Amino acid sequence: MRYLIVGASAAGLNAARTLESLDPQGEITILSAEEVFPYSKMSLPYLLSNKLKKRDYLFLPSPSKANLMLGQRVVDIDVERKKVETGQNKTFSYDKLLITTGAEPYVPDMELEGSPLVLTVRNLSDMDKLKDKLNKSDVKRVILSGAGLVNSEIADALAELNIPGTFVIRSHRMLSQIVDEEGSEFIAERARENGMELITGESIAKVQEEGDHANIFLTSGKVIQGSCVVVGKGVRPSIDFLERTPIKCNTGILVNEYMETSVKDVYAAGDVTESKDLISDEYEMHALWPVAMEQSRIAATNMVGYSWKYPKEVSRNIVNLFGEVVFTGGISKEDAYEVYKEKEGRSYHKILVRDGKLVGFIFVGSVLNPGVYLAAMKNQWDVSHLLNEAIKGALSYSMFKAPMREVVNI
Ligand SMILES: Cc1cc2nc3c(=O)[nH]c(=O)nc-3n(C[C@H](O)[C@H](O)[C@H](O)COP(=O)(O)OP(=O)(O)OC[C@H]3O[C@@H](n4cnc5c(N)ncnc54)[C@H](O)[C@@H]3O)c2cc1C
Repeated sequence: MRYLIVGASAAGLNAARTLESLDPQGEITILSAEEVFPYSKMSLPYLLSNKLKKRDYLFLPSPSKANLMLGQRVVDIDVERKKVETGQNKTFSYDKLLITTGAEPYVPDMELEGSPLVLTVRNLSDMDKLKDKLNKSDVKRVILSGAGLVNSEIADALAELNIPGTFVIRSHRMLSQIVDEEGSEFIAERARENGMELITGESIAKVQEEGDHANIFLTSGKVIQGSCVVVGKGVRPSIDFLERTPIKCNTGILVNEYMETSVKDVYAAGDVTESKDLISDEYEMHALWPVAMEQSRIAATNMVGYSWKYPKEVSRNIVNLFGEVVFTGGISKEDAYEVYKEKEGRSYHKILVRDGKLVGFIFVGSVLNPGVYLAAMKNQWDVSHLLNEAIKGALSYSMFKAPMREVVNI
């Protein structure tokens, strides 16, 4: 059997490892658009802050048998003839194909694209550019356009280096995609304490290079200066190369519970996909490392001939920002169903309960066992008798008498 995997990151490599163990006779080829060996993208902020002491620690172990081909960007797929074409004029045939091309940063303001001082952070080369601009610039301040997860993590890394940053936020508040107004304010306070400035209700209109720094013109007419601009306004699945194929996509590739696309023998996993969300029952992106790992394991298992189902997913995030844990899941940015909130000192807790089951939460500051919250939400365990413990961040597995197989890690 010839297995072809497009994309060599969390999902692609994990699928290759699974295929190696389930079909040792199979022929596995992985095509990567990048020229460097696969690495952990989620560790890039640690490379900036120097928490990752050695660059080598970033790289992921390669599967032992698979043929990993770097610098091969797929530009088209002929699903009838089962062939894949790359921009490097190479053609690869397959019996089973897996697409794990992940996502790429979204830059909504077209005017900003192309300027050497406007960066995004997704790949190792992006991080190298950011470090280079910071080293060379005569102005030591980074302008962060958007205050989503990646830009907040970049700000946290800058704070570790004592480099100030300025957030320019159109939506008025930090992490607006995952926390509510109150949660945003708690995080913004910590950001300000750590040398970050917040300019809200504004966007960047123009970036002009001047010597080794940038002059940034805001929509209000105000001009600020920085080493460079980092745009962090979310990601979009990398699906351009599927335009001429019949593979069904919405924002990402639509997959069923077996991780199959709408075309026979073509599977997809990781950030490039949209799958059913347990809480909303809608197709959504669940762009997370552990999701990419699990989806790719199931996809590869089914490519070999099994029929394993991938359960509906729940959105969640856990991140350490400015010394505080920020843990969110399910419906978190709005108030719906039964809402319980608790604010104390530097911590903010909120849980949302529907028919006695947890459907969303925010914990800024502290939570004892995040995995239990995820398990309770994924398995829709009854929490109606545990509301006091739940809002305190003190749920534990023993309270549910859960079978060990239902224990979930973040
Ligand atoms: C700065 C940062 C911080 C993050 N923090 C967290 C975190 O704290 N927790 C968490 O769970 N997740 C985090 N993530 C997200 C996590 O890294 C992703 O969910 C994970 O990398 C998804 O893996 P993937 O294999 O689906 O896709 P990706 O890692 O995006 O890899 C896809 C690969 O496919 C390649 N590719 C794209 N198009 C083509 C093509 N046409 N041909 C060939 N190859 C192609 C790309 O170059 C890329 O190497 C973070 C991401 C970033 C960037």
